[in-house]
Amino acid sequence: MGASPAILDPRSIILLAGVMGVMMALVVFFMRRSYPRSIQGLGEWSRAPLVAFVSTLLFAARGYFPDFLTIVVANFVLFQACILYYAGSQKFLFGHGDTRGWTALNGMLALLLFWFGIVKPDFEVRLLFVTAAVSALFFRHAQLYMRHKGRVFGKRLMTGLLLAQALVAGLRFVSVVAGMAGSGLMEGSWIQSIYISMYSFTVLLLSIAVILMATDRVHTEFEYLATRDPLTGALNRRALLDACHGAFASGERRGALLMVDLDHFKSINDRFGHQMGDAVLREAVGRMQRAVGDKGLLGRYGGEEFLVLLPDAGKAEAMEVAARLRQAIGEPFPSDSPMAAVGSIAASIGVAAGEDSSGRTDIDDVLALADAALYRAKEMGRDRVIAAA
Ligand code: GH3
Ligand code: MG
Ligand code: MG
Repeated sequence: MGASPAILDPRSIILLAGVMGVMMALVVFFMRRSYPRSIQGLGEWSRAPLVAFVSTLLFAARGYFPDFLTIVVANFVLFQACILYYAGSQKFLFGHGDTRGWTALNGMLALLLFWFGIVKPDFEVRLLFVTAAVSALFFRHAQLYMRHKGRVFGKRLMTGLLLAQALVAGLRFVSVVAGMAGSGLMEGSWIQSIYISMYSFTVLLLSIAVILMATDRVHTEFEYLATRDPLTGALNRRALLDACHGAFASGERRGALLMVDLDHFKSINDRFGHQMGDAVLREAVGRMQRAVGDKGLLGRYGGEEFLVLLPDAGKAEAMEVAARLRQAIGEPFPSDSPMAAVGSIAASIGVAAGEDSSGRTDIDDVLALADAALYRAKEMGRDRVIAAA
């Protein structure tokens, strides 16, 4: 099986792929401007197809421009584009990245291409080096996503594309070893056609995968912002009440609510300032979150008042959780903590369970019962847990 007549004209495919890449780069570029800054990697991802397009123009000029440009520079630029995609993924996934090693490898590759392209031209040896390097980079790139698995379609598409590219480059490497490489880039051998078509689809699909991943990330971030209290990171009132409505919706008698109010909190602000008050609130939420664990949900009901939903707990278990919460909140601040001056704080907690509710359980009933219990805890001198009557 040697060279067969050109089924697809490689030069047209390369150019078409390049143009598609540029259009996708524009999409990613404009998308980047409307996305929050917290989503990183889009800069690299929008530049990569443009850099790839420059290499495309150089490759397409084979025979018209000097070989130095269409072989050495073209390959260098294309590999640099692959590195940019990789850098984009590093930033998107980890917030930082380092691709200097790959750039150095690209420099060495350029020297080899100069030798086997200009000084002692040998298409097969060049192909061996290029396909080995490309395969290694795409495989390394795919590994990032395999370690950072997600159920998101964009990530799966990205992983699949990278693996496919690594595989095709590997296949091409093998084809050279097996003596089926053809004699030049513009020759239409079947493996060449597969490689080039694959490349054009990959440029397009990579940008689509990138857009899907970034959109999903925006969605997740907005959802987080919409359901969290910005100061403490606890669920906000709306998100927690939604969860409560879900838990008590079916007239379910299981489940309990704890209403927690920090004691004499105003005096902390008065004595140590509002900022100290904020820090104490955050610390209190951290302690409560650890005490609740995965048994329930913690939300900020307002000010220094919190609500804990325990969807599966009965009254007895709810009282235990409440006792743990009160204890955790009351632990003195360590002497090396910024809140050491405050000493310690305390909380009053009202507990009500679905089983306390008269007749059909209703979230409003349970809330009112917990609130009344909290009120009694305050009246009885604070720093205590009181169950609904
Ligand atoms: P009690 O034991 O009766 O609950 O006394 P208290 O001082 O805690 O109750 P009160 O409801 O009178 O005051 C609540 C205080 O909580 C007043 C308000 O300044 C403070 N507070 C509410 N939200 C925040 C916040 O986000 N940051 C800070 N620093 N303080 C807050
Ligand atoms: Mg209070
Ligand atoms: Mg209060």
